Parts: sequence; structure tokens; C-alpha cells
Amino acid sequence: MASKWVDLFLQIIEKKYINSISCPFCKKNTIRFEYIQYSSGSNIGYMLVWCETCKRGTHFSNLRIPEDEPFIPAGAPIPYVQFK
Ligand SMILES: [Zn+2]
Repeated sequence: MASKWVDLFLQIIEKKYINSISCPFCKKNTIRFEYIQYSSGSNIGYMLVWCETCKRGTHFSNLRIPEDEPFIPAGAPIPYVQFK
């Protein structure tokens, strides 16, 4: 299943329209993602990717947060995701 999440990650960073990406588990087009900052003032973080329907997801570590992307600041609440 890991490679399906990687495929999905690549579609996200290539800025494919998010509502056209389907969940590898339930097949719904309800994928969401957030960049999450590691520490205040840093542009390094991780990406949380999940399906809003089945709540399964994964994360991709040690990424540079693109300047044009919103992110969740360090210490702020993050969405609940079941890692599978
Ligand atoms: Zn799903």
C-alpha cells in the first residue's frame, strides 16, 4: 500500500487537482493534505495526507514547505488520521 501513497504524494506535489485524486482504500475522491511545520520560523516540515471519508492516511517527512502553500504552524492541532 505504501507505493499507492507515494503515487498520491507525487500527484499532490505536481499540483494535480486534489478532487480528482482517489483514495487507495475507499476510492472516494476525498483526499486532503496539509503541510505541518516542524518548528516556528522553519520552512521544513512534513505532509500529512489522508482521506476525509475513511480517515486513513500517511505522512511524508522532512519536506521543504513550498512558499505558495499554506501550512499548519508548529504546535497547532492537526487532523486526526489513522495511519495504515
Ligand atoms: Zn478513503
